[in-house]
Amino acid sequence: MFDALADRLEQAWKKVRGQDKISESNVKDALREVRRALLEADVNLQVVKDFVAEVEQNALGAEVIAGVRPDQQFIEIVYNELVKVMGDANVPLAEAETAPTIVLMAGLQGTGKTTATAKLALHLRKEDKKALLVATDVYRPAAIDQLIALGKQINIPVFDMGKDADPVEIARQGVEKARADGFDVVIVDTAGRLQIDESMMGELKRIKDTIEPHETLLVVDAMTGQEAANLTRTFHEQIGVTGAILTKMDGDTRGGAALSVRRISGQPIKFIGIGEKVDALQPFYPDRMASRILGMGDVLTLVEKAREEVDMAEAEKMQEKILSAKFDFSDFLKQTRLLKNMGSLGGVMKLIPGMGKMVNEEQLAKGEEQLKKAEAMIGSMTVEERKNPDLLANSPSRRKRIAKGSGHSDKEVSELVTNFQRMRSLMQQMGSGQMGFPGMGPMG
Ligand code: GDP
Repeated sequence: MFDALADRLEQAWKKVRGQDKISESNVKDALREVRRALLEADVNLQVVKDFVAEVEQNALGAEVIAGVRPDQQFIEIVYNELVKVMGDANVPLAEAETAPTIVLMAGLQGTGKTTATAKLALHLRKEDKKALLVATDVYRPAAIDQLIALGKQINIPVFDMGKDADPVEIARQGVEKARADGFDVVIVDTAGRLQIDESMMGELKRIKDTIEPHETLLVVDAMTGQEAANLTRTFHEQIGVTGAILTKMDGDTRGGAALSVRRISGQPIKFIGIGEKVDALQPFYPDRMASRILGMGDVLTLVEKAREEVDMAEAEKMQEKILSAKFDFSDFLKQTRLLKNMGSLGGVMKLIPGMGKMVNEEQLAKGEEQLKKAEAMIGSMTVEERKNPDLLANSPSRRKRIAKGSGHSDKEVSELVTNFQRMRSLMQQMGSGQMGFPGMGPMG
């Protein structure tokens, strides 16, 4: 899902990576990439324009957070905007004050409407709600049979009156039956056409006026991109819908539908279909979707954690030390512990854009292992030795003592000292701008 969009956005982060802070000039290039990424994902043009304008405003007004690189901060801003454009929060299915809740399903043929009707019933059963399905599509020869078959498969009852009855009458009697038999929800499947036509809309309207649903869900195909959003708007204008179900999100959809529906139609996406099977339906959560779109883990968590963990003054002091080569083993220990507070090394790495792909599990495990070892060895050093790694470089007997005390070999202690010194001079060369994340610097 959204691989192409994620890859494209990666180009945007690159434009601000390595910069001291977000500025008017570097953000311009990044925004151009965001714009291109969204257009290629088939997001509606007006939505793209508003999106980019909003990101620009927030990026330029953003305060520098200690320990957070400009690209990470930029990603957070884009993330927040993604969440916003998709409607901020999940909008749950409406619930009637007195049962049954009446749900009307609408949509063009082939979008997955009949499947979604069954999926929704199954989903509701997980919430202990009993649903009755109603088959009113008398036009497509196998539509009624299809719903009956799906119902059998998941053991959910289906009400039908054959294909010679009037759809409005079937809907009315179906709802009546649900009420009489004490169902919690009744879901009315309707006929889909290949395109919107007057008679289809007319019939849908008559059904709606007759059964007065609490929820009218339009089923739209995510593969159709921004067209899905336009369709939702048209249906809303003509018959009034309360939400959309976006199907086929498991395919290689580019994201245009997910990002456009809310803004273009004003209606929330309530569920997404993620497969042909009956259990492949999920409530739609804008924040989770935004994380998936960014395809690089939850950067927000990283920025949030940095906000919590990093004391600005402390970070500056550390940076100063690094630049002047005064960074010592005690500082290293401090940084390692900070990293630990933030979670596992792998967890933190995955949160850093681009990092997740660069290191594999094996390397991460090795890194964690080495950190642990280093911690033990530093633990056996005297305060003086921690302050002055040269003491250790020049004294085999000191190294031997530390090896013994920490349960590691002389060779491992020598390696730690050599690596530390190498890393220290490397950090000096890197300079302040590229220090990266607190705790990551000393990792080398
Ligand atoms: P209807 O004409 O709108 O009722 O559409 P159907 O429910 O008959 O579905 C049309 C086709 O889309 C069927 O082959 C379904 O299996 C498939 N389909 C429905 N929803 C999804 C989905 O979320 N993902 C995938 N991959 N296929 C789906």
